[in-house]
Amino acid sequence: MKAYDSIYINGAWVPSQGTETAEVVDSATEEVIGSVPLGTAADVDAAVAAARAAFDSWSQTPADVRAKYLRDVGAALAARYDEIVDTISSEVGSPKVFAQFVQAGLSLGEWESFASLVENYAFEEKVGNSLVVREPIGVVGAITPWNYPLYLIICKVVPALAAGCTVVLKPSEITPLNAYLLTEVFDEVGLPAGVFNLVPGLGPVVGAAISQHPDVDMVSFTGSGRAGAEVQRDAAATVKRVGLELGGKSANVVLDDADPTAVAMGAVFGCFINGGQTCSALTRVLVPESRKQEFVDAIVEEASKVQLVDPKADEMDIFHVMGPMSSKAHQGRVQDYIRKGIDEGATIALGGPDQPADKATGFYVQPTVFTDVTPDMTIAQEEIFGPVLSILSYTDEDDAVAIANGTIYGLGGAVQSADAERAMRVARRMRTGQVDINGANFNPAAPFGGYKQSGNTRERGRWGLEEFLETKSIQLPE
Ligand code: NAD
Repeated sequence: MKAYDSIYINGAWVPSQGTETAEVVDSATEEVIGSVPLGTAADVDAAVAAARAAFDSWSQTPADVRAKYLRDVGAALAARYDEIVDTISSEVGSPKVFAQFVQAGLSLGEWESFASLVENYAFEEKVGNSLVVREPIGVVGAITPWNYPLYLIICKVVPALAAGCTVVLKPSEITPLNAYLLTEVFDEVGLPAGVFNLVPGLGPVVGAAISQHPDVDMVSFTGSGRAGAEVQRDAAATVKRVGLELGGKSANVVLDDADPTAVAMGAVFGCFINGGQTCSALTRVLVPESRKQEFVDAIVEEASKVQLVDPKADEMDIFHVMGPMSSKAHQGRVQDYIRKGIDEGATIALGGPDQPADKATGFYVQPTVFTDVTPDMTIAQEEIFGPVLSILSYTDEDDAVAIANGTIYGLGGAVQSADAERAMRVARRMRTGQVDINGANFNPAAPFGGYKQSGNTRERGRWGLEEFLETKSIQLPE
């Protein structure tokens, strides 16, 4: 049991000015495994004041010195790899193998990437008689979700610090323990006081205080569209920059020349990855009417191999395991969506809304596949954020593109085809920030973000660094 009684402000562990705490629950055992203070607006004031005071010095610290701090933190974090894996598989419910390779693996890769990026970044360029200078934007408020909790914190905090910004982090109240682990590492490495601050708490309290704060220059938010819109509203009065990474309803477009077996593997992993709790999960598979049954059969067969597992178990096949949902409330939301799919006339080919028979404990949802889904159904339009795959059919390429683009979202996407040119043609027509062709790998150095209501920013790589920079033109006498 990890019972934290402090928050982290100005390089010190201090009590929150509030009195309430949040319990952290293991998604598989349903036991309380930790607790953290629920911060207040006054805590945010103190954290922002510390970040503001530290900004002058940190922003003037040479980029190679900032890079060295990042490398030191990355190394100290790597030394706690097993603890990261254990914490995230308990908090989120990610199977151990997934927590190892994806949750922890991605989280550890970013430190060196941004250290070398910032060392080599051209912060200045001459344009005519101007010197155009890129400078850190200032104090950054980072607000993060629970599904890839540490990695998504790192996608903000590392580039922000690399850029020369100082940070106030509010992690998800559902998965705060990994954020404490990271903060302990910042403390151990001796990052200068005030450069990084941690205020855990609820979105409408701590998150809103960050968004509204006049001394916060930018809010970098990852989470639901609902909360993202609230952040944007709260931030509007102070005209701060708001970076939003929001939800998705991504389409996997299967062209009629694709191989059903290869399609099925990618379709199932692409949807059920992290129990479907992935913003860019490929939750809609679009198959050609002419070969519909072949693709449906292959996908259902592949999906039936997925096992619900104890996240702590060893020796799992990463492509065919799923843990529980992250929380009881979320399990209920996903099950409600499955009931809605049935009510609206879709056909259940696998799974269903009930608690799995062999999993009386834990927030498990059965891997579920719907067929006969039409684009107007709720399960084809709304983000479910669980293991629910909807198969829709289309008549021709134009129809496929129209269905793929026919939601409010535009985050991920995929195309499957034996013909590289056709695949590329469809990929270019998709109104999304990412498109993967024929199961191509995720690239953590490429920009990631959404079109439409999936967001307005790009994280990762050079683009992720630039989100935290301001631009100044200094005109020089000729
Ligand atoms: P959420 O919106 O409920 O919470 C995200 C964070 O926002 C939490 O820290 C929460 O406390 C905070 N929050 C809630 N209300 C707030 C408010 N009024 N003001 C300020 N902060 C507030 O989302 P979640 O359930 O934690 O995460 C799931 C969502 O995140 C999904 O929609 C998913 O698609 C999205 N997501 C997007 C990306 C991406 O990169 N685009 C990545 C992961 C998750």
